[in-house]
Amino acid sequence: MTLATHEAAGGLVAAVVAPLPAIGFVLAFLSHFALDAIPHWDYNISSLERNPADPLRNKVLFERGFRGDAAKVVLDCLIGLAVILLFHYLAALPLVPMLIGAAAGALPDFLQFIYFVFKAEPITSLQKFHVWMHATKRIRSALGGVVFQASVLAIIAFLVIYCR
Ligand SMILES: [Zn+2]
Repeated sequence: MTLATHEAAGGLVAAVVAPLPAIGFVLAFLSHFALDAIPHWDYNISSLERNPADPLRNKVLFERGFRGDAAKVVLDCLIGLAVILLFHYLAALPLVPMLIGAAAGALPDFLQFIYFVFKAEPITSLQKFHVWMHATKRIRSALGGVVFQASVLAIIAFLVIYCR
């Protein structure tokens, strides 16, 4: 899923256990894999050379549109932060635990990037788990994909805000 969705979901999950930020970090980190297991849409990363037969052989080609990809990722992260701030102001959810959760929610994809470049343990084992958890079915429509992720987030937000 997008980093914005992972950040917001991680932040929401961590808000549930706000007095225990370490637990919030772990739960938010794990929420990443649970969300990736749901079939979803992802934007194209042109500098990523995919190996459909073996995703563990995917690699980053820095000369192939990496700057544009980096800009997309930064924008994606900023949208996630904006959503976190929105939840903080509208639902009075605690900001610092949510920021920790947001970082933990997005962390697996940054570790995935490090794997694509360096391919070394212990990140290789984590990448195997990431690939194993990741849904193989994809939502192709960007609009449908965004609406779907926003809906998943709305359900998590509802559960967190009203059941806290
Ligand atoms: Zn992921």
